[in-house]
Amino acid sequence: MGESLIVGGTVFDGTGPTTRQATIHLRDGMIAAVGDREQIAAGPDVEVVDADGLFVMPGMIDCHVHLTATSAASFELQRLKDLVPLQAIRGVANARKMLDAGFTTVRDLGASGFANVAIRQAIEQGLAVGPRVLAAGSSMTVPGGHGDSYYRPEVSVYRENVVNGPDAARLAVRETVKMRADVIKLLVTGGVMTDGSDVGALQWTPDELRAAIEQAHQLGRRVAGHCHGAIGVIEGVKAGLDTVEHGTMLDEEAIDLLGEHGVYLVPTMVAGANIVAHGTAGGIPPHVVAKAEQVAAWSRRGVRLAHEAGVRIAFGTDCGTPFNQPGDNAAELALLVDVGLSPAEALLAATRVAAEAIGLADQLGTLEPGKAADILIVDGNPLDDVTVLRAPDRMVWVLKRRAEQVHERVRADPHPQQVVQPPRTRM
Ligand SMILES: [Zn+2]
Repeated sequence: MGESLIVGGTVFDGTGPTTRQATIHLRDGMIAAVGDREQIAAGPDVEVVDADGLFVMPGMIDCHVHLTATSAASFELQRLKDLVPLQAIRGVANARKMLDAGFTTVRDLGASGFANVAIRQAIEQGLAVGPRVLAAGSSMTVPGGHGDSYYRPEVSVYRENVVNGPDAARLAVRETVKMRADVIKLLVTGGVMTDGSDVGALQWTPDELRAAIEQAHQLGRRVAGHCHGAIGVIEGVKAGLDTVEHGTMLDEEAIDLLGEHGVYLVPTMVAGANIVAHGTAGGIPPHVVAKAEQVAAWSRRGVRLAHEAGVRIAFGTDCGTPFNQPGDNAAELALLVDVGLSPAEALLAATRVAAEAIGLADQLGTLEPGKAADILIVDGNPLDDVTVLRAPDRMVWVLKRRAEQVHERVRADPHPQQVVQPPRTRM
């Protein structure tokens, strides 16, 4: 049970847009105090971490990842062939990459065979090193919807969480929570990755949506809704969604409803940007590229308008989609700045606002006494240039509180002069 002082850093504590010079006192994996060193009562054996000239901030939170996914251009065959245990092992490796990149919490919004729940358990049990994981199990869809199998009818594949009718929706939520999912994910509209599904179309009936969401809330679980078309946002928010994922085709009514209901928007613009940038030349299936192009321009405009209207925007990447690589999650920050968030607002989206969006604001997201010691020490000032958070050699220190109340120092050296090579295995 250690005690540490982080001394001399420029501290962005996540409670607002500004920084200050402050000392942070950590005890047993928790933040004990933030303030002037003279006023902090530390024990005689306290470890002092020199953060002179460095930037200190809360660990980042990615509200939308797929740990088990490959980021491959063409994923369809691999997804069918890879055993679920292989997917889970890949997910453990990807989780470590995200932690090394400064993401101390990630929310996995869809994996086969509850692999994301198993990854969370492996990390909690100390079998693997990774971020805090919130896992949705498998996402839920309706027959013919995004995420359902789209092979000819006599090809038989296991269709996980494909529900028809309110009772089936309630049952799927109960079964998913039974397998220890932390959050429920509904594929409310069509998606970019599923051939034949229309991104603009609402897939669920309103009574199916209400049934699933009411059941999840009754069981104490938040509900994340994948929505491209505005109609999905409108019906999803009316039915009680807690977060809207992607939200690429927002209109005025959808934006008003998000604001009115205080629902968080998780834009994941980097997913579409990568598909458009690499295109069919990069090996991405044409139907995927066509739909990504369809939503990309809409998306930037919609997020800009939503932000201007005061909608709460939380950080997410959809990491695992084509060319959307684990460990490069911070790429989304620059896209948020491009659509009008200030660098400080982009950082808040990835810290305090993200913690609120996933329901852990009492434990995470800011550097305040009583919160978990999830802390980054960065060589560079992201308020001048958010892309410093994307550079592996700028991430000097990543600290994450583990369940058993010790803090785990993931990256070794607190001072950049001493960091010749980041202690990450390069392949
Ligand atoms: Zn996703």
